[in-house]
Amino acid sequence: MSQDQDFHFSVVHNGMDYLVNVMECLTPPVATRDTKYAVLHTQAATEVLLKWPLIQHDWRLVVVPDEKTGVICDEDSFRRGDFRSIGLGQAIKLLDEELDIKVPGRAKRAISRLSNSRNRLQHLGMSGSTDAVQTSAAKVLDFLLDFIRDHLRDYLDPDDTAHVDREMASVRERLKGVQTLIETRMARIRSDLGSAAGWAVECPECGQDAMMINEDAGTASCLYCHAAWSTPGDAAGEYAWGVLGLSAYEQVKDGGMPPVRNCPECETDSLVPGAFLARAKDLPVGLCFSCGEVFSKLAECEGGCGNLTTDTEFDMCPYCFEVRLDRF
Ligand SMILES: [Zn+2]
Ligand SMILES: [Zn+2]
Ligand SMILES: [Zn+2]
Repeated sequence: MSQDQDFHFSVVHNGMDYLVNVMECLTPPVATRDTKYAVLHTQAATEVLLKWPLIQHDWRLVVVPDEKTGVICDEDSFRRGDFRSIGLGQAIKLLDEELDIKVPGRAKRAISRLSNSRNRLQHLGMSGSTDAVQTSAAKVLDFLLDFIRDHLRDYLDPDDTAHVDREMASVRERLKGVQTLIETRMARIRSDLGSAAGWAVECPECGQDAMMINEDAGTASCLYCHAAWSTPGDAAGEYAWGVLGLSAYEQVKDGGMPPVRNCPECETDSLVPGAFLARAKDLPVGLCFSCGEVFSKLAECEGGCGNLTTDTEFDMCPYCFEVRLDRF
């Protein structure tokens, strides 16, 4: 085997080995230790498989240049694995820019949830709830199998292709089993909720449409993974960041409005203007994570108070409107 074929073999085979291992970890009964390896190996498989087309295109793309000199290592160091590699976020960006391969938002969110789990695992020794890891890993794997079929195969040697196809068939089979378990559990939650199921939103922890707002208690929790948030503001912030990808810091830094706003109904800072309910996943609405109110129309108040208003006729909140009236 030439050095190149050897390299080829080890990288792609490692990626597939990780996938097979993740499926073993996710197949019940799932012990705490399995959850940990599911997180670590899904992450490792994603790194290896997503970076492979980039490496084939130009290996320099996946190398982080030396901080001081800005120089990229030589090819020998690269093949020995003696280099610092780019993160997954950067790899996803480069796949789009260099090869026009797009990673869907749903998969990106699942990948980022697992990255968070991995960081927690590394720093705090915890990997999050088994349910949340299982749903996120299943979503990432589902994406990876499509990615392998639609994109990775174009960058493989014939020998590799045969191997990958065999492994893929077995991973797909086991993944179906895990997806069925998840779907069965979701179906039960939906049926328990009855008509309320449509008012659920995507949970930032597990990615299932099972995050519910309890307007009486003013709290939010997920019926699937049992994640709970201590305040409605926290729940709103986590939803905006984990599901919509909106960071309060980034938004405000650029002079924009924060992703969580004051609710015109209950006046707490718990409103996310562009949320999506399970009943209409492509129709953004304003959703308050405290009082549970859903707003189909919201406008920035023109009175200058910095809040949103439901009054689309005057574009002014009742307070600013009153202040105006008093002046006359
Ligand atoms: Zn959840
Ligand atoms: Zn409210
Ligand atoms: Zn106002």
